[in-house]
Amino acid sequence: MKTLPRAFLSISFFLLATAANAAELIPDKPHACDACETWGQPREPFKVYGNTWYVGGGLSSILITSDKGHVLIDGGLTQTASQVAANIAKLGFRLEDVKIILNSHMHYDHAGGIAALQRASGAQVFASPAGKLALEGGGPTRDDPQFAFGPEHNNFPAVSGVRAIEDGETLRVGDLAVTAHFTPGHTPGGTSWTWISCESGKCLNMVYADSLNSVSAPGFRFSGDNTHKSRVASFEKSMDMVAGLKCDIMLTPHPEAWDMDAKVARLAADPKSQPFVDDQACKAYASGARERLVKRVAEEKAKQ
Ligand SMILES: [Zn+2]
Repeated sequence: MKTLPRAFLSISFFLLATAANAAELIPDKPHACDACETWGQPREPFKVYGNTWYVGGGLSSILITSDKGHVLIDGGLTQTASQVAANIAKLGFRLEDVKIILNSHMHYDHAGGIAALQRASGAQVFASPAGKLALEGGGPTRDDPQFAFGPEHNNFPAVSGVRAIEDGETLRVGDLAVTAHFTPGHTPGGTSWTWISCESGKCLNMVYADSLNSVSAPGFRFSGDNTHKSRVASFEKSMDMVAGLKCDIMLTPHPEAWDMDAKVARLAADPKSQPFVDDQACKAYASGARERLVKRVAEEKAKQ
């Protein structure tokens, strides 16, 4: 065998080394918060249905796969981005095949890991116009109900080059099609996402329903004050939207809101059961959120 010139060998080695490094995730500074330790617990990734996988820990990250590349929704905390990357690898997928990264809403517990995951994968991040502002600014915008918690609590690594999308827009990777449904309320830029996953010829409507909780920093009023108009009508519109979605399997940014642990346990006990399938889940989720908003507004009025 002819020996290859030394220069060729070193260039090839350089290219190989670069390719191997392409998906190496360099984590950002860990976020400090009361619940961060619980949220940071690793968890085995698992299949939800068809090409939909849970790759998060105590906070949801959802991977939707195709032969032409994948979509990842939510990055968890800064310190759990590497768990998400490891879970993707454990399932046999490559982080560099993630072509699109999406976000439910722009708080540190769902957006914190996105910058590192974006850098490592080279994926394009898409968001609503209000979401783009928060992601690129590295923290919630001034009109976010939780803004007054302050930068130390709120901020997360800024995401660069976010592309703004329209409400109802569908993003595609190969034969994957993921549709955006703007659900402002919990944050101004929050978005729910829908797609279809199929298994053994049976296709189901998948929903990643954004947080619809009316929680805020002290002093914020969903019912409005002299700094902003009431958010109640637009929040209720988001709830109506989620309730009206075609919804066979609902996932949410906080796994307890879809009772994930109990459902995973039920599946383990009976692999034939389909605990994730519940066509009333979106309606129940929205009506629970509506009850809490009504209660919250009554409390605000009582304080007037
Ligand atoms: Zn939040």
